[in-house]
Amino acid sequence: MSPTGGRHFLQIPGPTNVPDRVLRAMAAPTIDHRGPEFAELTKALLPALGPVFGTTAPVVIYPSSGTGAWEAALVNTLSPGDRVLIGETGQFSTLWAELAGRVGLDVEVIPGDWRRGVDPAAVGQRLAADPERTIKAVCVVHNETSTGVTSRVPEVRAAIDAAGHPALLLVDTISSLASIDYRHDEWGVDVTVAGSQKGLMLPPGLGFNAVSEKALVASRSAGLPRSYWDWAPILEANARGFFPYTPATNLLYGLREALAMLAEEGLPAVFARHQRHAAATRAAVRTWGLEVLCADEREYSGSLTAVLLPTGHDADAVRRIILERFDMSLGTGLGRLAGTVFRIGHLGHFNDLTLAGTLAGVQMGLQLAGVPIKPGGLDAALEHLRDAG
Ligand SMILES: *Cc1c(COP(=O)(O)O)cnc(C)c1O
Repeated sequence: MSPTGGRHFLQIPGPTNVPDRVLRAMAAPTIDHRGPEFAELTKALLPALGPVFGTTAPVVIYPSSGTGAWEAALVNTLSPGDRVLIGETGQFSTLWAELAGRVGLDVEVIPGDWRRGVDPAAVGQRLAADPERTIKAVCVVHNETSTGVTSRVPEVRAAIDAAGHPALLLVDTISSLASIDYRHDEWGVDVTVAGSQKGLMLPPGLGFNAVSEKALVASRSAGLPRSYWDWAPILEANARGFFPYTPATNLLYGLREALAMLAEEGLPAVFARHQRHAAATRAAVRTWGLEVLCADEREYSGSLTAVLLPTGHDADAVRRIILERFDMSLGTGLGRLAGTVFRIGHLGHFNDLTLAGTLAGVQMGLQLAGVPIKPGGLDAALEHLRDAG
């Protein structure tokens, strides 16, 4: 049954397809991470990384998953029992909140319906009602990968400022960095958390923290236990081109190549490409007569689209048919969305015809699964791609 020719379509919203250029760059001998050649690599890599985060601040690189970078952001800046405010946007904000609780923080969640981003007004109100400044950090997932909703980080920043509150702003950009416009410095973010395997077009295995001056100052008195995640020895070793423990050398070769590709295309063009593919995807979904999960048009994600199925239809059954018949993987519904949504990843190494193939597979899969759709979704997307060059 399973098709054997051609490439697998990996259209989950991360890990994403790794470009051949990046794969080739990683297929090189591992070098001595304490030697001069490695120092040259680090010294060229770190400055090239800043623009992708929109920062001139240091960016710490870990051999880790994104979850590790979440933990690093918290344990470097906070102390046991500190209160953190997290906007509930979906499964990933929930997991970050659970992690914060496990490392000893006092977590307060601003409830959400998993169809919208963090409400900046709710953040502002909560901070205004905290005259004793017990809240030490506000945590926002920029692009909630379980729902396809992008929170309005600049508006959250403005709400914190309007309340005159000193809380740190920690932002997860794991599925937005290098896909959706993001500016660590300009938006006044204190720690930006990122990972290698989504917009950066690399395999899983690197975690990142971009660190503001205010976060760096906070780290000097932060009392949560930390060792592996401690910024200080990493920043100190980085200055000489090294790391305090063995880095993921071959992933760093890949990172160098991926950053070169992003620089060649230009970040504004990269962001516009993602928005265009997202808009074409929504045109298809609407023409099919299905619903996009994101309920606020200001918050549509450029990285992925979560599609709601009519009641009585199982999104995982659709995904299974698409995998078996067309060799394409789509994102499953996570947490409370299990079975009711599937997610189309359109981020990273991706072009018009990748999207056309993806949506062709989705349309046929929906029909084979007996989901009642109107035909023409694929055509609507193609028209959008043709006309919105
Ligand atoms: C993928 C993802 C994570 C988790 O990253 P891991 O590498 O699986 O630990 C966290 N947050 C967001 C928004 C993500 O998309």
